[in-house]
Amino acid sequence: MDCPFCGSSQIMVSNSRPNSKRNKIWRRRKCLECNNTFTTYENINLNYLTVIKKSGKKERFSRIKLYASIYHSSLDKKGVDRGDASLFTEKIVSEVEGVLLNLRRKSVSTGEIKETVLKILRKRSPDTFLRYLAYWEGVDQRKLLSSVRRYFIEK
Ligand SMILES: [Zn+2]
Repeated sequence: MDCPFCGSSQIMVSNSRPNSKRNKIWRRRKCLECNNTFTTYENINLNYLTVIKKSGKKERFSRIKLYASIYHSSLDKKGVDRGDASLFTEKIVSEVEGVLLNLRRKSVSTGEIKETVLKILRKRSPDTFLRYLAYWEGVDQRKLLSSVRRYFIEK
């Protein structure tokens, strides 16, 4: 890890701590050359996880795909990021990864990932929750409404 300010490799870790979900560690680093400080985050890479699609096809877990689907849903009606969509998405993705990690399994279905995302979004942002649901179920309003009913009333 080189210093982003001067490129020096003389870096000291001045502080570190795991986040509350324990799947992420941040480290405060100090450059011994220029004395600037910066922060790095360490995530467990979930690409050991096999995702089983509805069709039965298997693929490796992709953080970027998960990120893209949530990011897409967190934009406003006009598709505009008002500045907090990427930060919000990052938080949700980390939370979802924490849940998946705690399953202590080697494979997970797309349905389970979807349910996990929905459970978290329902608490964090009802608007994003609805858009994510629409993203999954298509834009058929009747289908969407019955799904909403299922999530809000039956669960
Ligand atoms: Zn430096």
